[in-house]
Amino acid sequence: MNSLLLTGGRVVDPANKFDAIADVLILEGKISAIGQKLSAPTGVKVFDAKGKIVAPGLIDLHVHLREPGQTAKENIATGTAAAARGGFTSIVCMPNTVPAIDNAGTVALIHERAAREGVVNVFVTGAITKNIAGEEMAPIGGLKKAGIVAITDDGHCVQNNDLMRRACEYAKMFDLPVMDHCQDYSLVTDGVMHEGYWNVVLGLRGWPAAGEEAIVARNILLAELTGAKIHCQHLSAAGSVKLLREAKKRGVSISGEACPHHFTLTDAAVAGSEKFWAADGKQLFHLQTLPSWPAYDTNFKMNPPLRSAADRAAILDGLADGTIEILCSDHAPHCDYEKEVEFDYAPFGITGLETELALSLMQLVHTGRLPLAEMIAKFTVNPAKLLNLNKGTLSVGADADVTVFDEKAEWIFNRADSASKSKNNPFFGWPLKGKIAATVVAGKVVFAAA
Ligand SMILES: [Zn+2]
Repeated sequence: MNSLLLTGGRVVDPANKFDAIADVLILEGKISAIGQKLSAPTGVKVFDAKGKIVAPGLIDLHVHLREPGQTAKENIATGTAAAARGGFTSIVCMPNTVPAIDNAGTVALIHERAAREGVVNVFVTGAITKNIAGEEMAPIGGLKKAGIVAITDDGHCVQNNDLMRRACEYAKMFDLPVMDHCQDYSLVTDGVMHEGYWNVVLGLRGWPAAGEEAIVARNILLAELTGAKIHCQHLSAAGSVKLLREAKKRGVSISGEACPHHFTLTDAAVAGSEKFWAADGKQLFHLQTLPSWPAYDTNFKMNPPLRSAADRAAILDGLADGTIEILCSDHAPHCDYEKEVEFDYAPFGITGLETELALSLMQLVHTGRLPLAEMIAKFTVNPAKLLNLNKGTLSVGADADVTVFDEKAEWIFNRADSASKSKNNPFFGWPLKGKIAATVVAGKVVFAAA
């Protein structure tokens, strides 16, 4: 049952700098051998991976599963099903649930439920502060004991620099990375979209890039001061990339991640598809049919917001030169009734697990910005390294988490095909290039394309 022979695929394992046509033999949930003309022991199924990429199971370190407490939006069963459809064998869930993951009991609840109902591996993060309120530190040591892989107040940002400093000192003591949603509240106030040209045209309150950059700068200073590993989540602004690039050159223990919506779309998309395709969407992917959507579509509202074309270009440059080492979705499901309101009142966030691989291939690999192996590294070995996960490689003996995909296959993302409980996604109807063939967790096929 947990054994499988994948034959004839192009095996790309960045952790081992391996890139060649080969067979992969999985026995009892572990990688048993990689080589030429391997034969399947009796009873072991063969999966023909010819013409496809065989990669270590992809990891998404930024996912909102909404369980416990917000299961109308998503739960562990549906969220992990969406992950499997998207090619992800491991996901890391954020602690802004109800109650927040600021205590060992909630960590245990998620671990238990994920083991029972989840189809992919679920790793848990704990809050930096109690109830993610930014006032009092959460019991970081107890959370570590309960098995969390990092701390974050994602969705919120600790504004008190001294509190953040103390949390970093604790995190370092417990060898936990600190992941931060970078948002300076005094600069952002109640902004709902990027502060630039389009928010003025549309009459929406602006969320300035400086609101993110100020906290990235703060985090660089605190990483230097405390020696903690600080990871800046969902970077959207050119200035953030510049700060990160300079700090990394000096050896500061700081890192960053980017999400496909920030390096595909821009703030022009909030003005509707016509404006977007006429302005920043020009030449994007050379799509034959241009998807359309209205102005003020709340599926283009997320936090941090879609930014200018120059910011998008800077994020792509940061991914290309290695400044940004990790790709993720910030999968943030919300119910239709919550999103079907005026732009100002809609919650921030979109789903992303099922589209992130294709969009990353399209913007990074198919455009020639990044070799395939480097893009795969940003979904595997790099997040595994940051979080000290024993994942992200196809080394012999490793857990047999494998993602098989066709990098060139074209498909259209349809609302009816999404496994997520929520349908708040701006990419429905988009022609995408790069399709999952199979998702394998511990030797078991948890998703296979029809
Ligand atoms: Zn966030």
